[in-house]
Parts: sequence; structure tokens; C-alpha cells
Amino acid sequence: MAKKISAMDIYKLLPKINCKKCGESSCMAFATKLQERKASLDQCPVLKSPKFEKNRKKLEELLSPPVKEVWFGYKDRKAILGGEEVMYRYELTFFNPTAIGVDISDKLSEEEIRRRAKFIEDFFFERTGEKLKLDFIALRNASDDPERFVRALEIIQESTKVPVALCSLNVESIERALDVVKSKPLIYAVTEQNFPEMMKMLISKKKDKKDFAVVLSSSNIKTLKGMVKASLSHGIEDLVLDPHTTPENIMDTLDRFVMIRRSAIERGDKLLGYPILGLPINTYFYVLSGNNPIGQFVKELDKAAAIMEASAACAMLNRYADGIIIHGTEIWELMPILTLRQAIYTDPRKPQAVEPGLYPIGNPDENSPVIMTTNFSLTFYTVTGDFEKDGVTCWLLVMDTEGKAVDVAVAGGQYCGENAKKLIEETKIGEKVNHRIIILPGLAAPVRGDIEEKTGWTCVVGTRDSSQVGEFLRKNWNRILEEWRAKQGSGN
Ligand code: SF4
Repeated sequence: MAKKISAMDIYKLLPKINCKKCGESSCMAFATKLQERKASLDQCPVLKSPKFEKNRKKLEELLSPPVKEVWFGYKDRKAILGGEEVMYRYELTFFNPTAIGVDISDKLSEEEIRRRAKFIEDFFFERTGEKLKLDFIALRNASDDPERFVRALEIIQESTKVPVALCSLNVESIERALDVVKSKPLIYAVTEQNFPEMMKMLISKKKDKKDFAVVLSSSNIKTLKGMVKASLSHGIEDLVLDPHTTPENIMDTLDRFVMIRRSAIERGDKLLGYPILGLPINTYFYVLSGNNPIGQFVKELDKAAAIMEASAACAMLNRYADGIIIHGTEIWELMPILTLRQAIYTDPRKPQAVEPGLYPIGNPDENSPVIMTTNFSLTFYTVTGDFEKDGVTCWLLVMDTEGKAVDVAVAGGQYCGENAKKLIEETKIGEKVNHRIIILPGLAAPVRGDIEEKTGWTCVVGTRDSSQVGEFLRKNWNRILEEWRAKQGSGN
């Protein structure tokens, strides 16, 4: 099993003079940052002196992840693949979210190519405060015509600045595209069949100082290793592995993905320590062809193809695909893929939290309701999204629950009277409203008494689901407010 690197292993090779030039208080603190990949060796100027050259080399070796990080695209807009260190997210974290590419066929008209490229560049949707986007264009040489391929590339480059994967098995097409490409491309693919010619051409381009990353493609892992070895011997080092996506049996594909990743991370097999590329697009066209079991039952083959493609993409995201290429661009297909990617690549060491405090929703005034939620970002964005949709106007108090959702924070003791009191004092909400009523989420009912006791405010338990808050307020808020005022007037 590959050995995990500790901060102490790194520290031993640092200068150990605590000069603080790296911005850290000590060499040990810098070692911890390096281990967490929150700093780079360049930040230590002392390591650049000839005296530390050997140590620097050892550190570079020590810090290189078992799965090489490979990038392509522009310096300021890269698609990054790989760079992973662990099999399971909870062991550390996953670093580089799977890059998602959408294909463009060079058989499309110029107008269609431009439109699709622009769509890929501009597409995003927002979830928990993060913009989820597509990462690259996979230009397919479906025509097998080098002329058309190059023209399609030119159109893409004229209208967008998105990283491009040049997808063709035709050596001439790739060679000519390499002459006009303006960014570092990913070349798909070197196969067992075109290996000698494609490699010869790539080696000569390398000599001309062309920079590119290359996908090696074979369903046989031994063969893949041989191809890696040969590529490295020619100085072609930015490699990506395509162990074939077989839509007829996606389990076989996933087995190969797992085998490669396990060999790289757990057995330290350097020849397999490269990012993996998955092709859900194969599933799309397999289903679309109708020449498969699904075609017998589903009439709308394009919809079935997109659904099956999304399923294959999600399975690959769960099984170490560092990059995928898809075809479908329907929002209902992209949303689950991008959402799952976000969930997998969220750093488990960092709570997903927003700033606690007071958030006015709409244009609240002194009579508006005060609602108290948690600072778990998924809760926060769901609540504010629901309120916005339903036209809710209120003062939203966001409690620091260390990024935990309401039920978890109630059970863990973070959603409690003490924290509510602190929040009320810090936000001075009492100066903004002429009542002392807080509406709690339904799941916070067990701590109602504690919050009332510690804050002196009246707590009303609202709905469990924030989508029902608008309706709840329309029906009840005026009554709640009047009853509270009547109670104050009567002195009870
Ligand atoms: S700059 Fe280098 S030598 Fe100085 S404290 Fe940082 S790690 Fe240590």
C-alpha cells in the first residue's frame, strides 16, 4: 500500500530555520500547509538555494500525488484532471472536480457549432452559492475530414475561450488542428491501432515546442501501461487514460476505473497514476441507435439516451472519472450530473457554511416576522430561494451552527438558547422590529423552551419545510402579532 505522507515527513526536508519568508510562522506550519496542498514549494525562497537542491527534488517527489494532475486549456481557464491522493473522500478530500466536457461534431453547420460552443461557455446554474459550470468542449472529427475539423476548431476559438479536447483517431486531422489551436489541447486519442503514426507525429510536435495532453485508449490495462511507458520514454508526460466506456456493460467500465485507481493509490503503480477519462457519450449514442434493449420499450429515444447518459455519467463520477464527455445539453440532464459532482468534491473537512448574521429578505420593516435558521449553506440557500419565490418578506436570523442543518444542530446542541441570545445581541434585531417574536423551523421544536428562556423572546414553531413558510405567514402572521401585542397589553 502506498504510504501516506505526514507533515513530519515534509518538515524533515525543509530548511528548519523558521525564517517566516513563506508567510507561515514556522517550517512546521509550512509543512502542514504543504501536506494539505494549501501551499506550494515555491513559497519557500530558501529551498531555491543550491544548498537545498537535493531536498527540493525529494520534496517534489514526495509531494507529487499518486494520480498526476494534468491540465489543458488556457492559462486563465483550465480544465484540470486528476491530482488525487486518496480512494475515499473521508481519508483526506478529493481535490479536482471531474472536468465535464460536451461534444461538438464537426459535421454541424458553422452556425450550429458557434451556438453550441457559446452554450457550453455560458451554461451555469447556481446551487448553495456556487456557480456550477461545464469545463470543456470535445470537438469530434465525426466527418473524418481534416479540413472540416480545423474549420470547426477555428469557429470555436473565434466565439469562445473554453478548453478544447481534439477528438479524432485520424493523425492528419490532429496534426493540422495542432497547427491552429490557440490553447493547450487534450488530444483524444492514441489507440493501439494508430499508436506508431500518432506518436511519431506527436513527438515531432513536441520537438516544435507544442504543448498538449494526450489520452491513451485501450480496454486492456496491461496494454495501457505499455502505452504509458512508451509515451514517457518519448517525453510525452501529460497523459490521461481511457480504459474504454462500454455502454452494453457499464459495470465492466467501472471495474476498470476502480482497478486503475486502486493500483495507482494503494499499490503505488506509477504507470497507472494518471487521470481517467469516461465517455458517457458512448451510452448516449448506443441508446439513440435503438439497437439495444431500451429501444424496444421507449419511443422517445433521444430522451432515453439522455437519461441513460446521465446515469452512466453519475456512475463514473462515483468511480474515479477525472474527466467525462457527454452529448446531452438538456437542463434536466445536466443538473443531476453537476449537482452530484458538487456533492462528491465538497471538502468534507470544511463545513459548508455561510456567514451567520441578519439577512433582510424583501424590504422588511418593524412589523415583519423574524425567522431563525442555521448557517448550513444548503439550508440557507434553500430557505432564501423558497422565500424569494414565494415573495416572503422577513428578517432572517442565521445562527452559527458550525455549518450544520437544523435537525443535526438541534441534536448536536448548536441550535440552542445560548447561541440564539448571542445572535440577537450581535445583530441588534431588537432595534429593527417592534415585537419580540421568533419563528423557528418545525425541526427546532424541541429547543423552543430553551430559546425562550435564554432570549426572553416568544418562539413560534413554524413549518418543517421552508417552501411552506409563505403560506404559513399569510395565514398566521397578523394573528400571531396581534395575540402577542394583546398579551403584552394585558401584562401577562
Ligand atoms: S520560508 Fe522556508 S525556511 Fe523559512 S519558515 Fe518558511 S519553510 Fe521554513
